[in-house]
Amino acid sequence: MTRLLRNARLLDGSVVDVLIDGDRVSRVDRRDAGASSPAESGAVGTFTDRAVDLEGRWLQPGLWDSHVHFGQWALLSRRLDLSGARSAAETAARVREHLGEHPPDDGVVVIGQGFRDGLWPDVPTPELLEFGDIPVALVSGDVHCMWTNAAALRMLDLPPESWLLREQEAFDLNVRLSAVPDEQLDRWALEAAAVAASRGLVGIVDLEMHGAIAGWRRRFGGGFRGLRVRAGVYPGDLDAVVAASIRTGDVIDGTAGLLVGGPFKLFADGSLNTRTAWCDHDYPGLSGPDAAGLAIHSADELLRLARAAVAHGLVPTIHAIGDRATTLALDTFAALGPLPEGGGSIEHAQLIVATDLPRFAALGVRASVQPEQAMDDRDVTDHFWAGRTDRAFAYRSLLEAGAELALGSDAPVAPLDPWITIAAAVTRSRDGREPWHPEQSIGIEDALAASWGGVGAIEAGGRADLVVTDIDPLTASGDQLRGMPVFATMVAGEWTYPAQS
Ligand SMILES: [Zn+2]
Repeated sequence: MTRLLRNARLLDGSVVDVLIDGDRVSRVDRRDAGASSPAESGAVGTFTDRAVDLEGRWLQPGLWDSHVHFGQWALLSRRLDLSGARSAAETAARVREHLGEHPPDDGVVVIGQGFRDGLWPDVPTPELLEFGDIPVALVSGDVHCMWTNAAALRMLDLPPESWLLREQEAFDLNVRLSAVPDEQLDRWALEAAAVAASRGLVGIVDLEMHGAIAGWRRRFGGGFRGLRVRAGVYPGDLDAVVAASIRTGDVIDGTAGLLVGGPFKLFADGSLNTRTAWCDHDYPGLSGPDAAGLAIHSADELLRLARAAVAHGLVPTIHAIGDRATTLALDTFAALGPLPEGGGSIEHAQLIVATDLPRFAALGVRASVQPEQAMDDRDVTDHFWAGRTDRAFAYRSLLEAGAELALGSDAPVAPLDPWITIAAAVTRSRDGREPWHPEQSIGIEDALAASWGGVGAIEAGGRADLVVTDIDPLTASGDQLRGMPVFATMVAGEWTYPAQS
């Protein structure tokens, strides 16, 4: 089937008619260049099934989010929101109020999410979360920490000292608590995908920690066509993925070409809020062996895991937040040598020493970054990384050093909305606050290009993954970018958000 988009305005201001054939753009004809458009000439009218007049609205490649935990994002709205709680006591009070309004069923763990304890005046304790026999488990905003009460620990058969967990133990508990029947998870996932389409999203790298490939295969098998998905693989899934002969970049059968094997995810360190991001300097107030954060693996072990993945055609992406972890991740890529499928990535790269900046481009390693997290964490960063914030979330420095940026949200850590991500990268500001390190903001053109999933422009032969906006992104204010009015979204030649016909 063919479709015609009339009167579309590209970001360079030119007005074009775009002909789409199947899942590809087949022609782009300028209306203002004197040449007759396919619509006017009638050259294609005879075989164009469907046409839409975009009336001069802005058309660009569809937007990607390069780091999502999609199942976790779908579950988030079913959990008690604890973001913004200013102390452990306030967090506990919010849980108490919630339990009063929504008495839970027996045998159900009440789950809250989003607390950020880095700057709290008090500390979490197991006692604060005691509410009779009601089991309660709280997931931190950065997902690297879990605070759980005694009733929940008893129910989950965990020892009392597990009331505060971090890193892998916290991830494992969260995965356990996130288990819901497939039909329910899929229904919530499809709802979340529809909302994402309404924001112009056409693709994600899904780094869900458990069963991303199986979940999406099921959804595409059920007829879902709303997003492209590159589904990541964790060490625990490696054997199954190798047995299924899925490599990074492989199209997975039965998914209309929309599901592709994603990267192999490894962790070099923890996170800033949990004070486990591995740094060159100690955190203020911490002492002992973990005072500078946590290295999840030794350098040798990280390289061994990465090599094992590469041997099976899986391209690594390495989570690294602190500067020391980022150095280790770059060292690991240097030792691995050239990689297929567009090269490897480092996730987050929140703190970088100056000498590492040019290594991204030199090694062909992409910086997969999440600008809205800088807005969430600017105060915690000023506190824990005092004196080093000029090289924190340093997107302009990365671009100037030639690095390729890929923007994302790390949803549920930040919302799955590419315009929030883009606005944060461009303005370094939110809620009317002064911009934070505005010298590290990037231009809107760079932010958009870093959100197109590797696509450069709308051109004949390219994928028909598109977004139409009511206003010009290049001249929009920060607030307009954040709330960008999206008119329509298309994935593989089919509308996923209105502009039917
Ligand atoms: Zn993540």
